[in-house]
Amino acid sequence: MLSAVRSTLLRRAFTTNSVDGFTGAVGNTPLIYLKSLSERCGAQIYGKAEFQNPGGSVKDRAALGVIRDAEMRGLLKPGGTVVEGTAGNTGIGLAHVCRAKGYRCVIFMPNTQSQEKIDLLRMLGAEVYPVPAVAYENPANYNHQARDFAKDLSNAIWTDQFDNTANANAHFESTGPEIWEQTNGEVDGFICATGTGGTLAGVGKYLHEKSRGKTQIWLADPPGSVLTSYISSGGKLVERSGSSITEGIGQGRITNNLGMFVDQLSGAFTVDDSKSIEMVYHLLDTEGLYLGASSALNVVAAAELAVKLGKGSKIVTILCDGAYRYQSRLFSKQWLKAKGLEDAIPSHLKKYAVL
Ligand code: PMP
Repeated sequence: MLSAVRSTLLRRAFTTNSVDGFTGAVGNTPLIYLKSLSERCGAQIYGKAEFQNPGGSVKDRAALGVIRDAEMRGLLKPGGTVVEGTAGNTGIGLAHVCRAKGYRCVIFMPNTQSQEKIDLLRMLGAEVYPVPAVAYENPANYNHQARDFAKDLSNAIWTDQFDNTANANAHFESTGPEIWEQTNGEVDGFICATGTGGTLAGVGKYLHEKSRGKTQIWLADPPGSVLTSYISSGGKLVERSGSSITEGIGQGRITNNLGMFVDQLSGAFTVDDSKSIEMVYHLLDTEGLYLGASSALNVVAAAELAVKLGKGSKIVTILCDGAYRYQSRLFSKQWLKAKGLEDAIPSHLKKYAVL
């Protein structure tokens, strides 16, 4: 104990601005002005650099948020187990936080996910159970398996990222205020795609409240998601059909997290995969940013929103993670061809598809 106090005092004496471990490094990400796109649209388009979180994605905030909430409510005690169903980034965030705090981490994921993600989770010390990819309605769905696994253990929690609103609250308490401060409270529009809905609802609620309704909050969707039609039809849920090359986004139902804000959204639209993949390459070529497809989709959507809201508008979106986790797909000529997307890349950008 004494040595812990001494080490903290020593650190304070020798640094002016250090943070406590992994968890202290989550958040406070830069807001990047996207110059070429802003000039093209006659607007100001900014991306919140969530790929700079220490676990590499926007989901570090949610992972830390759900664990802190469970600790505060006495549901998770030292030496406990954290169980989650996830396709990737949330699991990676949880695995980091669990290592930093000494918890066991158990992840159930659909067996369609990339080997890179499974390997990374295992390298971070998580136990990973790949299970058949079946619909949410099926009791064998990865989320239900995670819930059932946690139920049978003592001092264990299922973090339930889709319906546990500690996820959106983490964004309400950190991402939203950061964006408000970084823009001096002058944001005309915020837009992003959703998986759990935590980022959109948490940031959206904060900006909407702080601006007294002046900041418009929009949702962007990949193909195969039902949210655009839900919002445009005033609340009709259709059956899910179609698919997208983007990972971690798109949804077939209104989760508790999205439900916190869905009624106050100004609108929604769908972005085609061809536009998202082109933007992955364009961001690399013009901004030097190496980002995943959900970030690219968000930027395409931000540019469309800028056109809707008019010249000079100030739009913020989320740059969710880097391309590193998907590079064997996004930068592979063969993969692009198999997905029918090779023509989506303009000829002057094809040089980046080196795999
Ligand atoms: N982009 C990526 C790459 C993700 O992994 C996720 C989370 N699944 C999202 C965007 C969406 O974030 P949220 O769950 O907060 O809606």
